[in-house]
Amino acid sequence: MTLLPRRLDQTCIEEFLSSFDNVLSDCDGVLWYGDTLLGQANEALNQLRALGKKIFYVTNNSTKSRDEYVAKCKRLGYIADKEEIVSSSYVMAQYLKQLDFNKKVYIIGMSGMTKELDDVGIGHSEVAPEPLTGHVFDLVDTIKLDPEVGAVAVGFDGHFSFPKIMRAASYLNNPNCLFICTNTDEKFPIENSSLIFPGTGCLVKCVEVVAERPPVVMGKPSEKMFSVISDKHQLKPSRTLMIGDRCNTDILFGKNCGLHTLVVLSGVTTMKDLEDWADSTDEEKHKLLADYYLPELGDLVSLLNN
Ligand code: PLP
Ligand code: CA
Repeated sequence: MTLLPRRLDQTCIEEFLSSFDNVLSDCDGVLWYGDTLLGQANEALNQLRALGKKIFYVTNNSTKSRDEYVAKCKRLGYIADKEEIVSSSYVMAQYLKQLDFNKKVYIIGMSGMTKELDDVGIGHSEVAPEPLTGHVFDLVDTIKLDPEVGAVAVGFDGHFSFPKIMRAASYLNNPNCLFICTNTDEKFPIENSSLIFPGTGCLVKCVEVVAERPPVVMGKPSEKMFSVISDKHQLKPSRTLMIGDRCNTDILFGKNCGLHTLVVLSGVTTMKDLEDWADSTDEEKHKLLADYYLPELGDLVSLLNN
C-alpha cells in the first residue's frame, strides 16, 4: 500500500466532491504567490462555491487585517466576505476575547495584529520600528515597561530588533504574562532567487529562548484556528476539506482536526518531499501526507468541467 497522496483526476473527482461541504483554503502558495494570482485558482475556488461549498480563507500571515484580505481576494478575482477570512491575527484576537483578557498586549508585529485587537476592544502597544540607536547597555535606562501589559504576542515583524526582544523578555519574566505567537512558519522560498525570506517562526524562537517557555500558537497546525471557524459556522470536520501547500502547517492542521486534505505543489512542497515522507520509517513524516494532491489548484477547473 502506498502512502503517497492520490493524484486527483477524473477517476476520483466525484468521490472527492461528495466527501465535503466546506473548504478551508490556505492562501499564499495555493491562491496567490505574494501579490500574483496562481493560475486559475480563483476560478477553481469560485466554482466550488457555485457547487454550494462553504469557503474559508485560512492564512498564517499575520501582517494584514481581515478587511485588507477581503480587498486582496477581490483584486485577484476571488469572491470573499470578512466572515470567511480566518487569519492568525484574527484567531489571536478571538483567543484573548474568549479569555476575557482585560490588560494590554505588547506586540512584536504589524498592523494586521493591532487592527484585529481593535476590533475586539483589546488594548495594545503601537507597532513601530524600535532600532538600537545607542549602546546596548543604555537600554537599561531607556526602556520603560508598561505595567498594564499582561501578554506578549509575536507575529511577523520586519523591524524585529534587540530592544523589542528585551522588552518582550522583560514582560515575560513575569510568569503571569501570557506568551502568544501568531504562527511558526520557518521560511519562504523566493521565486527565481537564491535568497530566503525568514518566517515568523524564527522571530518566535528568539523570544522563546529568552522567555524560557513556549508560546501558545494561534495559526496552523494549531487546532485553535479550526475551533474559531467551527464555533461560529458549525462545521463538521468529516465534511470539511483543507487545501494547502505547506505540509507541516496546512496538512498537519487538517490531520489534527480530522479534515480531508488536498496538497498542491504550487508552493513550498515538492513531489520529492511527498516521496521522501512516504518512504520514511518515521511515522511523524506520514502525518504530513495529504489524501490527495494536485500540481496546482487551478487544475481543478478542467476536472470540474469535464
Ligand atoms: N507569514 C508571512 C509573513 C507571510 O508572508 C506568509 C506568506 O506570504 C505566511 C505567513 C504564510 O501564509 P499562508 O498561511 O497563507 O501560506
Ligand atoms: Ca501557504
